[in-house]
Amino acid sequence: MAACYQGFDPAAYLQYNYTAPRADFERQDSIVPWKLGCLHRAFTEGDVSGELLVDIGSGPTLYQVLSGCEVFNRVILTDFLEVNRQELRRWLRDEGDCGLDWTPYLQHVCKLEGRQPSVWTEKAARLRAVVSDILPVDVHRPQPLAPGALSSVGADCLVSCFCLESVSPDLAAFTRALGHIQGLLRPGGHLLLIGALGESYYFGGPGVKIPVVPLNEAEVCASLKQTGFTLIRLEVYTLPQDMRVGVDDVSGVFFVKAKKE
Ligand code: SAM
Repeated sequence: MAACYQGFDPAAYLQYNYTAPRADFERQDSIVPWKLGCLHRAFTEGDVSGELLVDIGSGPTLYQVLSGCEVFNRVILTDFLEVNRQELRRWLRDEGDCGLDWTPYLQHVCKLEGRQPSVWTEKAARLRAVVSDILPVDVHRPQPLAPGALSSVGADCLVSCFCLESVSPDLAAFTRALGHIQGLLRPGGHLLLIGALGESYYFGGPGVKIPVVPLNEAEVCASLKQTGFTLIRLEVYTLPQDMRVGVDDVSGVFFVKAKKE
């Protein structure tokens, strides 16, 4: 799988998945607003809290921590590829020339929080202040982060979006990877997992076809159980026909809120 990622192009990936129609904030049925809504609810129900939030396989994206950054004092982003870590660093250092303008995302999440979209700059500043590290990660290793990257207690919450299924050759590898990241979480900590259903490939750039293990809801639930998580909620989004834009063969998306036993 590592070889498949060598041609990954952050700017193309962002263009394929994080612009309209998949990120159309005027549409109720667009995929990105659906994901942002799930994350917003999960982080504002009052049960997810603590000091440290870790995002596993961040890629070149930031949407997945826009709600969590208000709840946690420290956020760690991670990715396997240096090109993705670089893309994240560019935004965090406000260096310009980013692959995507995150402003509409920041505005949308401010709206979900009942704030004026115009205060998006405050959320951007908050995110830049709380992200303490952008680290390499490999979910296929029993210890996905470098030794000492986290305190021995572990993270209070993990977020991971479209990572495990798109780096695993089969269901067994997906479940093993889930077990590996479980080890980064403190007992009682929460996992917010978003992923593709029924997907066998996606494009990580022009001509860069990356295999994905096609999952169904029952398999996701079984993997969670096997790796010591208690499921709190599973939500499913079915892709409308016009969101099937030829950059993958995904049929749906799952959102999981779970707790480490
Ligand atoms: N989280 C982002 C999102 O929601 O769009 C990116 C998901 S992208 C489909 C999959 C990510 O997994 C890529 O950023 C890739 O670099 C990363 N990745 C590849 N191999 C990995 C590995 N062995 N361990 C962890 N992440 C890996």
